Amino acid sequence: MKYVIVGSGVAGLAACEAIRSLDETGEICMLGDDPHGYYSRPGLAYYLTGEMHEKGLFPRTKKEWQSLNLRFIPGQATQIFPDEHELEVDGKTHLSYDRLLIAVGAQAVRLDVPGADQEGIVKLDHMEDARRILKLARRGKTAVVVGGGITALELVEGLRSRGVKVHYLLRGDRYWGNVLDEQESKIIEHRLQEDGVKLHHHAELIEVLGKRGRVQGVRLSDDRTLRCDILAYAIGIRPRVELAQEAGLAIDRGILANEFLQTSNPDIYVAGDVAQVYDPMSKRSIIDSLWGPAREQGHIAGLNMAGQQTAYIKAAPFNVTRLAGLTTTIIGTVGRGRDDDLVGIARGDSETWRALPDAIVAQTGFDVNRLRLLVGEKTLLGAIVMGDQKLSFPLEKNHFCERGYFPHSR
Ligand SMILES: Cc1cc2nc3c(=O)[nH]c(=O)nc-3n(C[C@H](O)[C@H](O)[C@H](O)COP(=O)(O)OP(=O)(O)OC[C@H]3O[C@@H](n4cnc5c(N)ncnc54)[C@H](O)[C@@H]3O)c2cc1C
Repeated sequence: MKYVIVGSGVAGLAACEAIRSLDETGEICMLGDDPHGYYSRPGLAYYLTGEMHEKGLFPRTKKEWQSLNLRFIPGQATQIFPDEHELEVDGKTHLSYDRLLIAVGAQAVRLDVPGADQEGIVKLDHMEDARRILKLARRGKTAVVVGGGITALELVEGLRSRGVKVHYLLRGDRYWGNVLDEQESKIIEHRLQEDGVKLHHHAELIEVLGKRGRVQGVRLSDDRTLRCDILAYAIGIRPRVELAQEAGLAIDRGILANEFLQTSNPDIYVAGDVAQVYDPMSKRSIIDSLWGPAREQGHIAGLNMAGQQTAYIKAAPFNVTRLAGLTTTIIGTVGRGRDDDLVGIARGDSETWRALPDAIVAQTGFDVNRLRLLVGEKTLLGAIVMGDQKLSFPLEKNHFCERGYFPHSR
């Protein structure tokens, strides 16, 4: 059997491990276009703040890779020919497969305003972006950050920790208003202000100003201008569906998968940020951009590819993250539907979170420690634990995680 995995992220790696656990002799080829291969993408935020060295982002040893006995091919998959069971690499060579996994992730939505193609404009998608930000922060004095969700905040915090003055633009009246409630947004905003971040509410960027191709400032819709030498944005992500679309596979916002993570072609599987998977809780097909689900989907796809039929049962999306230095756990449905600052979802985000649950809200709060529970008719639908994390693990374990979902692991 010949397996080809497109994408060297966590979904691709988990699939290789699962295949190898069932098939010791089959040929596994992994194709990846990131020159850095496999690393912790959530860890990029800690790399920016200086809490993690670049080396620490690579959790696998050479020996662990070797034990998988796979062939790594650096390159980009440019086309799939499902009838021939072939994949085109870099527009040139062809690679044949019996079973193919598409695990190509998602990419940042580009800023689409006049002047957005100049030097000094950055996003945080992969290792090279993080390196670019660090280089700019060495000389840059002032940055403007645009966007919502976790990644925008990581940009704010990363730049602040490097001594850069930061203006944070929010289109709406508060931070991450579709997932956090008013009190939670207020806590985060207060902490940012205490750290010296200048917040601008109802601020819409309409033009990037520059000189000789370098950013010098931004213009807002109310005609105000702000000077800056760095413009960082995180306005959402889009699953990379193009390969699947051109191959005639069924897509919606992501590549559609059945419960065995097969696409509309039974020999082609999908996992991770690019997959749109049925969620029994909301009864919709949804997209996550979360490390845990990507790993779990890769694992299940790999088992199926190697012949062990295993259904993927989507559990409540779960993330333990840090918002303005405050550890925060988000589980299940906690939101209120729409967002002013994001197109779709961001990194470290789930479409499920923003769903408006039919639930009673129970909450307690003391200073920065806050617990919000969304209680449905028969069960807990969602929870946010901010600050003190004593209840995070028991909640996730006892109420949301009874079906074998494993959160963050390397
Ligand atoms: C800055 C940042 C912060 C994050 N924070 C969190 C967090 O707090 N919590 C959390 O749970 N998750 C977080 N995430 C999200 C998490 O990292 C992703 O959900 C996870 O990495 C998805 O894994 P994946 O394998 O599906 O895709 P990816 O990790 O994106 O891997 C896909 C790989 O495929 C490669 N590729 C793409 N197209 C092709 C092609 N045509 N041919 C060959 N290779 C190709 C890409 O270069 C990439 O290496 C964060 C991500 C980032 C970037």
